[in-house]
Amino acid sequence: MDFNKLAELLYPDSTLNIEDIEKKYKKRQLKEGACVTRLAPSPTGFVHLGNLFPAVTGERLAHQSGGVFYLRIEDTDQKREVEGAVEVLLKSLERYNILFDEGATPEGEKGEYGPYYQRQREQIYKAYAKKLIREGRAYPCFCSEQKLEEMRKEQEAKKENFGYYGKYAACSNLSFEEIEQNIKEGKSFVLRFRSNGDPQKTDSIVDLIKGKLEFSENDIDHVMLKSDGIPTYHFAHAVDDYLMGTTHVVRGEEWLSTLPFHVQLFRALNFPMPHYMHIAQLMKLDNGAKRKLSKRKDPEASLSYYYEQGFSSKSVMEYIMTLLNSNFEEWRIQNKNADINEFKFSSDKMSISGCLFDMDKLLDVSRNVISQMTAEELYEDAIKWAKDYDSDLYKKFTADKDLAISILSIGRGGEKPRKDIAKYNEINDYCAFFYDESFKKGEEYPENVSSEDRETILKSYLELYDESDSQEEWFLKIIELSEKLGFAPKTKLYKKNPELYKGHVGDVSMVLRVAVTGRKNSPDMYEIMKILGKQKVLDRISQAL
Ligand code: GLU
Repeated sequence: MDFNKLAELLYPDSTLNIEDIEKKYKKRQLKEGACVTRLAPSPTGFVHLGNLFPAVTGERLAHQSGGVFYLRIEDTDQKREVEGAVEVLLKSLERYNILFDEGATPEGEKGEYGPYYQRQREQIYKAYAKKLIREGRAYPCFCSEQKLEEMRKEQEAKKENFGYYGKYAACSNLSFEEIEQNIKEGKSFVLRFRSNGDPQKTDSIVDLIKGKLEFSENDIDHVMLKSDGIPTYHFAHAVDDYLMGTTHVVRGEEWLSTLPFHVQLFRALNFPMPHYMHIAQLMKLDNGAKRKLSKRKDPEASLSYYYEQGFSSKSVMEYIMTLLNSNFEEWRIQNKNADINEFKFSSDKMSISGCLFDMDKLLDVSRNVISQMTAEELYEDAIKWAKDYDSDLYKKFTADKDLAISILSIGRGGEKPRKDIAKYNEINDYCAFFYDESFKKGEEYPENVSSEDRETILKSYLELYDESDSQEEWFLKIIELSEKLGFAPKTKLYKKNPELYKGHVGDVSMVLRVAVTGRKNSPDMYEIMKILGKQKVLDRISQAL
């Protein structure tokens, strides 16, 4: 058959030629070892937590090596497209400091390797498709959905592999005349790759995460262009990553099953093969069994969840890094205050099998990260979040910044900072008792303190309290009061001889804590009283009496 004629018959309107395309996409001038990576999401408006993994990996590899990280929008499936998705994506990633050097932007795009929206690249794909047709490596397939369904059923019944191959590839041997006739009749077609693979033979590539991957050669004639001329992921991947100069294709391991086809495509098109990095899927434990983190079932699968819940992006990033690189935690212990970007990210420290997502671990990491922030840092970050998600906290914090900062300063800055807060949506409750409008009178006093003693403690305290006392003086007064009432001045003493005392100094200060804060749990009472000020402390104690 005259394949040149076939190419013209199938795509007469496509006139772009490959030499012109390749002239435009010049080889990138980068220093030796610089990686060019990309994020290639579909614009569905949903950003999965899992997207953060290739995003962080791609960003780190590119920027650590002086390379380029770009954004390509895979908008070939118009049905799934959501308006404003690119903006949502960029905003979400920006919170994690993931910034692109080139690619799609909400207003258009920047960079010289575009268009970065796949739908605008239709003519480019067609040019390469025609090249493969001319070389006899692609052919039109007119099989109807129904016919393909019947084929599938037959394969199922005969326990044969699924797909369009060998004797099932009905259209692979159509003559030029038959094809011409079908087109005259207005029949629609998809363009299929003519595979020359033999599944009895094995092929392999080296994946930078998974190591050597061996697989059977692909013999399925997969679709390259759909009936509307739009490419499938596979074909677009080969053409785009080649033209855009991607050196490292970082993507989810769900693409491993079609990797043999991608390898064939690169070879057939005579493109140099990029390095592949297939990232393990994000799993969670559900009733003891591991399963994929699901967009439908798990709210925490969405990246927006973390922002809405008030997770600091620093915390999420620390946690993601612990999942991505097995030596990150160790590095962090040795480099407590270092910027996360000082960590040397490396592909050989990445997990080969599934990454297990553990919310408790994230909360733990997060408490730690927040405990290391200065009060000012935490204030600024929390207020940004509160503006969108907690109007009450926002009001309180903006009305009196100094007060907010002094509350957040309690127990911060020392060797062992307090770890009360894991996410910003806990701050309002944590601070509530400092504000009269959200203070709730305490009811639960320690059981071993009689009501007479409680009254005596509170009444005496009204007399004792002196705002100018140092912490030691303040505590000494509580100890003295405890002894006077028959409570042990030290917990240890009480534990040794409980029969000698009514309780210990902790019970006495608990009475004060419940009266002043309304709670049994709070940070340091001395600090709290200082912040509340004499009048409020005395008012609350009087109220409790
Ligand atoms: N659009 C594909 C996805 O969202 C991109 C995969 C890739 O990075 O190649 O899964």
